[in-house]
Amino acid sequence: MSENWSLYADWNPWHGCTKISPGCKFCYVYRQDEMYGAEVASNLVRKTAQFNLPLKRKRDKSWKIESGKMVFTCFTSDFLLKDADEWRAECWQMMRMRSDLLFFFFTKRIDRFMECIPEDWGDGYDNVFVGCTVENQEMATYRLPIFKSLPIKHKIIIVAPMLTSIDLLPYLDASIEEVAVSGESGVNARPCYYDWILSVREQCVLRGVPFRFHQTGAYFVKDGKMYRIPRRYQLSQAHKANIDYLIDQFYVPQKPKFEWKEEDYHD
Ligand code: SF4
Repeated sequence: MSENWSLYADWNPWHGCTKISPGCKFCYVYRQDEMYGAEVASNLVRKTAQFNLPLKRKRDKSWKIESGKMVFTCFTSDFLLKDADEWRAECWQMMRMRSDLLFFFFTKRIDRFMECIPEDWGDGYDNVFVGCTVENQEMATYRLPIFKSLPIKHKIIIVAPMLTSIDLLPYLDASIEEVAVSGESGVNARPCYYDWILSVREQCVLRGVPFRFHQTGAYFVKDGKMYRIPRRYQLSQAHKANIDYLIDQFYVPQKPKFEWKEEDYHD
């Protein structure tokens, strides 16, 4: 898996979200809005100036998002959010038109998937990757059987922020292209235990499913000791642990990222 960030692009067609489960408690969208002094409440969902980004061209008529990129989609909201129902059809259309790009979104609302897909979805678009987020056992037990049953070509399980140990074994097989695990960021972050992470890794190895330790989170417990990891080291520290498994064989995203640019988010 390449570390070359030029392979990636961000597309946030709308911004803002409503909290739905324990993993949302310290949602990074809310935290970033607060940090940047956003004037609109984080739970008021609005289209952004980036809405049509995949179809935008530069002055020389080439695509603004160049062919071949993996596009992190809707990372400042949830792509399956009900408040965005009237906008989503256009996004699917753009994804279909830009079949030269790969689109990746993840969601805590996988139970809404079938009511959100376009008519021509069939067994899934080849260029769309969907991540089902689970943060504890309860959410895994509820969401993953639904996720497994859905017509999606590329399925990824995102364990983030990891709040408890989780048994994923019943859901791991060749239909899952990757399991990515992260602790929680932010000043109020809940701790993540290395033992939980190693356990998920073991489950993945048992089933031959690629595993990625994506980031440590802010409070990381290893060998009974709690470490405070500054934001800038959370990715690199996870990488240093060197416990990823089969990851290089798969072109899947690894960068939940949110960089605020005022011009992208004005109403
Ligand atoms: S679903 Fe995601 S974006 Fe929405 S509130 Fe929860 S953590 Fe935030």
